[in-house]
Amino acid sequence: MVLVLVEHSDGRASDASLQALTLARTFAGGEPVHALIVGAGGASAAAALGSHGVSVAHVADHEALGVFAPDAWAATLAEVAERLPAGAVFAAGTDRGNEVMARLGARTGLPLAANCIAVAEGPPVTLTRLRWGGSLLEEARLDSPRPLLTVAPHTVATEAATTATVVAVKPFTPALDREDLVVRVAEHIGASGRGISLTEAKVVVSGGRGVGSKEGFAIIEELAGLLSAAVGCSRAVTSAGWRPHTDQVGQTGTKIAPDIYIACGISGATQHLAGCKGAKKILAINSDGEAPIMLSADYAVIGDLKEIVPAISAEIRKHR
Ligand SMILES: Cc1cc2nc3c(=O)[nH]c(=O)nc-3n(C[C@H](O)[C@H](O)[C@H](O)COP(=O)(O)OP(=O)(O)OC[C@H]3O[C@@H](n4cnc5c(N)ncnc54)[C@H](O)[C@@H]3O)c2cc1C
Repeated sequence: MVLVLVEHSDGRASDASLQALTLARTFAGGEPVHALIVGAGGASAAAALGSHGVSVAHVADHEALGVFAPDAWAATLAEVAERLPAGAVFAAGTDRGNEVMARLGARTGLPLAANCIAVAEGPPVTLTRLRWGGSLLEEARLDSPRPLLTVAPHTVATEAATTATVVAVKPFTPALDREDLVVRVAEHIGASGRGISLTEAKVVVSGGRGVGSKEGFAIIEELAGLLSAAVGCSRAVTSAGWRPHTDQVGQTGTKIAPDIYIACGISGATQHLAGCKGAKKILAINSDGEAPIMLSADYAVIGDLKEIVPAISAEIRKHR
């Protein structure tokens, strides 16, 4: 049996977790798939998992789990995996999923293969995973009594199960120690933008050093608003303090997979492309026709973004 850590918000499983569930179900090959959901709102997210092949959803309820505490999540995951016992444990390869699974590996001494895109049952388990920010695909074998695996977001398409199951929702209170709660989220700083998540946005308008200043992002925000898009940026921008790190796209930022990525004044460094190559289409707006991003762009406008971006916004307004 396979156990999957399912992240959720607003009573809904995250897209990345549903992708992890899809791969875990294939790996399970007909064996039962259980889910672990942690924190408030878990029960409503659990109820919808039957269409993704989950037969039992374990919902961890504990007063200390109101905020994210990676060791507490790892302890909870270890407890459920041991109790079942789980043959393998999956999670989404998000910042949170990778962190919890790394801590689970450290606690249990089991090896973790992070950011997998394909996994076949073993032993040993054979897998393909993303390395070097996605610029290298590694084929590996994982010999472990309980493989720990995370699934790189946006590399596996979510598929509903052919036959939906009725989920048995099992609330429980995990046994947590004080040490499990030493690291925990103390404060949430709301992401900038209009509440559209960068990971799940269909359109992302992103600005790089070419935008020139924090204030220069007003035109990026304006276009994003007209397109119901999320705003992203490059690391040059976050390093300059023009935008928060939550907006950064790339190897050390967020990996996105929108229908269209509009990159304004971004040169297209490998580390940036590692975050946006999941986009179906890329439109580059850059004054340098030789910028590296041109090699990845489906469409390009060569010129000054300070003229082009407002002109696109004006054109959209005209047709509204
Ligand atoms: C370990 C490591 C991890 C990294 N992780 C990330 C990451 O996650 N994300 C990331 O983005 N980077 C990352 N980087 C940094 C990366 O290597 C680049 O330095 C960065 O992406 C450059 O940002 P940029 O494209 O905005 O700036 P630049 O490379 O300076 O490019 C600016 C672009 O703007 C264009 N431009 C200038 N003015 C205008 C104008 N008026 N109109 C139109 N175009 C204009 C220029 O032609 C140029 O192409 C990482 C680096 C390292 C070493």
